[in-house]
Amino acid sequence: GLPSRAYFKLQEINETHYSAAVSNKTKRKKPTVINRRLIQPNMLILDLGAAPGGWSLYASTQLEPSRGGAIVAVDLLSLNLDVTSKIHENLRGRFEFIQGDFTQNNIRLETKHAFSHLAKEAQISDGTERTTVRRKADLIISDMAANFTGDSKTDAIRTINLCEQALSFAAGEDCFDSSYPPKGSQGMLMKEGSFLCKYFSCGKENERDLMDATKRVFRSVHLFKPKASRKESSEMYLLGFDKLH
Ligand code: SAM
Repeated sequence: GLPSRAYFKLQEINETHYSAAVSNKTKRKKPTVINRRLIQPNMLILDLGAAPGGWSLYASTQLEPSRGGAIVAVDLLSLNLDVTSKIHENLRGRFEFIQGDFTQNNIRLETKHAFSHLAKEAQISDGTERTTVRRKADLIISDMAANFTGDSKTDAIRTINLCEQALSFAAGEDCFDSSYPPKGSQGMLMKEGSFLCKYFSCGKENERDLMDATKRVFRSVHLFKPKASRKESSEMYLLGFDKLH
């Protein structure tokens, strides 16, 4: 149905205060209290694994296109048509959908082009002269999930790999090295940007690389299961606030 369960999960995540932080233990002792919502009205959001469109639809209700708010969405499959038209209505056209495999370089390149295109459009529509053009996302959310093989462990590991792909796009591949941070600003997520991904719990040893990398990249890291998630589901949400570099 419309809106979908996914829509309400993202709403719940957006409306939660992440004060009981499981914070970045490797870098600071006190938990960082985040007093703002995940989605801000002026954000450029990248929605990965967007079909049929629940997350993009919810996000579009939180954005103000006149202040630069926009979404780039990517999926192997196409979006629901009614959902797409509602998103376009909310964002007055500041929505681009790219159909394809996000693990492929050509699709990543198309995604970058969509960012710079939307950044330029924002300059034109608000009429003010800005010296910097945003060509990076402020928030990257990934609900990408691999096709189920029937073996839940295999499925879970493949979905973790997709989360790692999303994070390496956000922060650069070297966030998986212990020598991170890099010298320059890496990846397609802005400094101070945020990252959300979903995976299926499959044992600490399989989740460690993703978790360690996320802690290297963000000031504040949270792992949780929303109330709107079915009890029997092993899904977990990993949220990184405030990209450090
Ligand atoms: N967030 C969506 C919503 O709110 O409607 C639901 C996403 S659904 C759980 C997972 C999606 O990930 C599927 O539509 C699937 O096609 C997509 N997906 C899986 N692998 C992908 C890949 N390599 N590139 C792009 N999309 C992928």
